[in-house]
Order: sequence, then structure tokens, then C-alpha cells
Amino acid sequence: MSHGHGHGHDHGSADLMPVEDHLAEILATVRPLAPTELSLGDVHGLVLAEDVSAVSQLPSFDNSGMDGYAVRIDDVAAATEQNPVTLPVTGEIAAGDTGAYALQPGAAIKIMTGAMLPHGAEAVVPVEWTDGGSARVTIKARAEYGNAVRLAGEDAKAGEVLVTAGTLLRPMHVAVIAAAGRGAVLVRPRPRVVVLSTGNELAEPGTPVTLGRIWDSNSFMLAAAAREAGGLAYRRAVLPDHPDEILPAIEDQLVRADLMITTGGVSMGGEHDVVKAALQRLGTIAFRKVAMQPGMPQGFGTVALPEAQALAEEPQRRRFRRDGYEEAAAPVSAPGERVPIFTFPGNPVSAYVSFQLFARPALGVMQGYSGLALEKIQARLTGPVRSPAGRRSYLRGVLDRASGQVEPLTGQGSHQIATLAKANALVIVPEWVVQMAAGDVVDVLVLP
Ligand code: AMP
Ligand code: MG
Repeated sequence: MSHGHGHGHDHGSADLMPVEDHLAEILATVRPLAPTELSLGDVHGLVLAEDVSAVSQLPSFDNSGMDGYAVRIDDVAAATEQNPVTLPVTGEIAAGDTGAYALQPGAAIKIMTGAMLPHGAEAVVPVEWTDGGSARVTIKARAEYGNAVRLAGEDAKAGEVLVTAGTLLRPMHVAVIAAAGRGAVLVRPRPRVVVLSTGNELAEPGTPVTLGRIWDSNSFMLAAAAREAGGLAYRRAVLPDHPDEILPAIEDQLVRADLMITTGGVSMGGEHDVVKAALQRLGTIAFRKVAMQPGMPQGFGTVALPEAQALAEEPQRRRFRRDGYEEAAAPVSAPGERVPIFTFPGNPVSAYVSFQLFARPALGVMQGYSGLALEKIQARLTGPVRSPAGRRSYLRGVLDRASGQVEPLTGQGSHQIATLAKANALVIVPEWVVQMAAGDVVDVLVLP
């Protein structure tokens, strides 16, 4: 038998569900949120829900790449430092000038960066190669055909896809979308995540605790993790360990939730495990033991308002706005719509690991974004580790990418939150490995 660090129970492994199976069920349940059209100023950090293509070619017209003089190449072919060529300047074109200009042979037209190339021009001589003259210009070097000319279509062809659906919009993407002329695009709204913590022992940080009580850390941690994964998080703390209070509190929050997360009260089914007791009778949430440590007791499923109540509350639901951008096209959940719910264990490290393994990928699906998976790399252990048979361990560690080494931290109990703040990675010890030695190569998840 092997001892879990925190529990001291012996769990037969036959009734444990593999981590992958639990995750697969989650990913099969959650759906991408309906896309909404937002103006370009509001889309940074959101996930694009359509392919954005160039309406016209980029650049859309031949233009000058420098400040200088538009010329025909034959007219400057003989120009050198010793024997410069002087041409009359017959005009000046600034960026934004939409006039039609023609360059006569034997002449030059002064032109600014981004200005439309005059008809007949073959190259731009940079102002640095000249005396900068206004009526006449003396040119001290020859220019190749096409010198300092930006050709129409050399950046992108008309219709070419510039940014694909599923892209997390960063400043460069916003720039490209704007350059393609789009003032608004379809994006996925940020999933609204309601986090509820449960436990009679919990007190609000910033208030005094008496002996036997602790401060609620899970709800703050999960709200932060949800935001980090692209969500909008709301905290609902702290629910007492009373079975009659759990379901109403959850139903109360459904109006603003695309996803719900509870912590605590799901352990082994005793009468104090009020979340499990209250939700099990709905029949829509599976409570199970997953073959992992920490985070073995997991619940996942969906919740919805009872039909009658949903219809009655619909007007209020519509009034409930969260952010400016929602005014545009609120993806208001329909009455009776089922909201995915995670019930995570209460130990802070269990809740944290559960979020990263299960809720973070779910938030990825909801946003149509595949980039939320934790990076997995291999590293060499700097010290030994132990793990219970039949369960995959996720041990807090300090990864040093430069040396390719990972140091397993001491204090791996799932209540030992101090160790969590020191970690930047999770060392994975496979289900059937009970110990590993310094120097062994392990899979490591890099924490966001
Ligand atoms: P439970 O899952 O409710 O049995 O709780 C397991 C352990 O986690 C207990 O030691 C709780 O006090 C602790 N715990 C539960 N909820 C929280 C929370 N929100 N913040 C910090 N610790 C918690
Ligand atoms: Mg509890």
C-alpha cells in the first residue's frame, strides 16, 4: 500500500478513472460560446471567430517606400558622385494625394513615403542621394528599376486570409485586421466563470480568524486562474456547509455563468460533503475518483435552472450585463440552458491542479482557442520523488529551462499552499511509477 501525502487513505486503483477519460468527457460536454461582433478597439485579448481576409490587395496601389524623387531609370543611369545628373522637378506628391500624376521623360517628381507613384515612374531616388532641390534636383547615384517602390499586392493578395479563426488577438493581429479595413470582427466572448467556495471553516481574507478557521484562498486563486485563461471571473464566497444552501446559491449565479466552479465538499461522500450531497440528486453531475494526486475527488457535469424558474427570470437575465462589449450582441444564455460545472476538492493545491488540468482546457474550447494547453517538456530531476501506485502525481517543482533540470519541492501535501507559490512547474509521475531518482528524466508541465 502507498500513502497519499495528504489523505492517509488507501485507495484501490480499480475504481479510479484515468485522467484522460475524465478530461475527454469534459471536452465532449463544453461548447464554444456563440461568436459576437465587436468593434476593433475592443477585441484585443479575445479569440477571433472568423477568418479575416484582405478585401483588396496590400498595398492597394504602387507607392513610394521613401522620401525622394520619382524618376525613369534611363534618366539617372549615368549619375555618379563625380558626375551627378540634374533634372527639373515638375511636381510634388504627398501621402494621401489622390491626384493622377504623370512623370515626363527627363524630369523628376518629388514624392513622399506612402504617396502614390506617378504614372511612368520606374524608381524612387531617395532624397539622401540628391541635393534635395525643389525646382531642380541634382542626383548623385543611379537607381535600379523598382528602387524604393512598394508594389501593389506585394504584402498580400486580394482575398488572402490574413488572420485565421481561433487566433488569440494580440496587437499585431489587431493591426493587420485594421489594415485590411475591417472595423469590427466576430470574436468569442470571454467565458463568464462563477467561482463558489464552501466550508464552515472559511473566513474572508482581511477579516480576523479564530482558532480552527482559515482564510478562503481557493476562490481568489480560481478566479485569477480563470481570468488568466481568458475568462471573466466572479467570486461567490463563502457558502456554509449546509446541504440546503448549495443548490440555491448555484442557481442564483446561473444567470451570469457560462461555467461554474465550486471548491470543497466533495471528498468521500460523508455528510459534510455538502456539494456532492446537494448536486448528486440532480443526476447531471458525475462524481468520481480520478487516478491522480492531488485532485482525486472530481465532479463534473451541467446545471440548469428548473424550466419554470428560467422562463420567469428571463427578463432579468437580459438586463444582466457584465461589460461594455456585451451591449453589442450579448450572448445571453437561453432559459434552461445547461451550464457546465466543476466541483473541485477543497485542498488548495488540489483545486489549483484540477483547474489547470480540467477547467483551463474547457475554457479553451469555450473560446474556440487551442492555445491554452500547458506546455509539456522533459527535464531531469534534481532529487528523488515518490508517488502512490495507480495514481498519476503532479508534483510541484521548480523548472530551470537553461539547465533542463527540475527540482521537486519538499512539502507536497495538497494543503501545503506555501509550496505552490514557489513552483513554476508540475512534475508528472506516471500511474504505475512509485518512485523516481535524481537524474531521471520526467515530463513536466510548465505552469502559466
Ligand atoms: P473539503 O474538500 O471541503 O473537505 O476541504 C479539504 C481541505 O481544504 C480542508 O482542509 C479545508 O479546510 C480546505 N479548504 C476548503 N476550501 C478551502 C478554501 N476555499 N480555501 C482554502 N482552503 C480550503
Ligand atoms: Mg469543506
